Formats: sequence, structure tokens, C-alpha cells
Amino acid sequence: MSRILYQGENQITNPYKKKTHEAVDVVKKWNQQDAIIAHSSGTVVMIQKGMKHAPGSTGNKSYGNFIKIKHKDGYYTLYAHLRDVYVKKGDYVKRGQKIGYMGDTGNAYGVHLHFELRKPNEERINPEPYLDRDLPGEAGKKYYQAYDNYKKYWLPNVAIGSQDYAGNYNNPIGGIYADALEMRVHDLNKHCWLPWVKDRNDYAGNLGNNIDGVQIKNATYRVHLRHGSWLPWVYKVDNTNEGYAGIYGKEIDAIQIK
Ligand SMILES: [Zn+2]
Repeated sequence: MSRILYQGENQITNPYKKKTHEAVDVVKKWNQQDAIIAHSSGTVVMIQKGMKHAPGSTGNKSYGNFIKIKHKDGYYTLYAHLRDVYVKKGDYVKRGQKIGYMGDTGNAYGVHLHFELRKPNEERINPEPYLDRDLPGEAGKKYYQAYDNYKKYWLPNVAIGSQDYAGNYNNPIGGIYADALEMRVHDLNKHCWLPWVKDRNDYAGNLGNNIDGVQIKNATYRVHLRHGSWLPWVYKVDNTNEGYAGIYGKEIDAIQIK
């Protein structure tokens, strides 16, 4: 399995070399083409579209169509020479989500993916050790975030265990993402518990619908009620009143996880 190709295995056709090629070039094994997936979850911070095959071009043109994603702790991944781009600037993409299709736009010698990994200061480091692993900034740190149903976007990540909380008081939340945790939420509009989700494979919630209950396995958590206050910390998951955070019928506008 590859973390950058939709199907099949990576075959590196041109490795990282400091100063001359600060990226790896990858094709699907046996020189085949494939869709490109996001290596890790993050926000699309830059795209370039409408470019053609342009041997000898320089600067951003040499990348052809490309996507740049900002990840947790500020690391970036960049996917260049794409034939198609499926995302827009500002999109939050999940790990494994299809974001484009391999091509030969820009200064490409043939159809392949030019994949870069950049530190928060934009220094390009060798992506090869991370092709099938978490990015360097991600190991050991776990975060969660909430979706603001009024502003209609995902609020910033908050570290699990920190004093901070996820949410904006008075704005109901419609979804929660959390690293490593298994959780589900109760949909206030549909009056039912939504499916359990785990890690960042999916979020808990129906964006746009308000939440009036939260359950998180193996965590200590509490919620804040809109026009109300913080409810007591919850330490377990079951179908008693102490086994979830929230009050049915009351909108939740913030969550805190320890
Ligand atoms: Zn390259």
C-alpha cells in the first residue's frame, strides 16, 4: 500500500538529491499511472491548474499542475506534474483522499509524481523515509478539532490534554475530528447516535446538523452547552446519564478532551 498513490506500490524513478532534486519521483510499480492521494490530513494551501507539458520550464511553471498541503505542526507535502487536480485551495483533505491524477505537466520527462516534503521553514527534506509513515511532526502528538456550523468551517486543531477547547461559544458544532480516539455523537436534529468513527478516517457528526451528545472511548471529556456552561467531565461510555457528555435537545458549542 502506498500513502501517495491510490492503488499499487510506489516505484521511485528519481531519488532525492540535495540541491539538484529535492523530492522523489514516483510512478505506480511497473511504470503505470494512478490517482494521487493525500499522504496525511491537512489543508490545501496552494494549487496550480491549467498547465501543459513544458520541458525546460523553470520556477513554479516547472511543477505543472500541483497541490501543496499544510499538515499538523506546519509540515508541507507537494504533488507536482499532475494531469488533474480534484481539490481547491482551502479544502481540508483527509489522509488517503483522492486529490488528483498523475501526469506530465510542467518540466516532466514523462508521466510521474514529483513528491516533496517541506519543513515548516520550507526546507525540502528527503521524503523517502516518510513515504509510508507519518510525517516527522506528527508522531506522538494528538489533536482534535470541531466544525463550526455557523461559520461553516473546521476550527483549528487543539492538542488533547491541553487547557484549550475546540469550539466557538454560541456557535453550535456539527462535527468532531480526533486523532487515535474512537467516538460518536448524537445528532440533535435526527435524534439518534451517529456511527462510531476512529482516528481521522472520518469525523463524528453530520455537518450542518447540531450535536447534543458525545461519547469517546478511553478518554476524559466534557462539553459546553450553547447559552449554558461546561457540563461535568465524563470518564466512561455507556447508556446511563454519566456515560455520555451532553443533554438531549441542547446544542453543544465546545468540547474538551484530556
Ligand atoms: Zn521530480
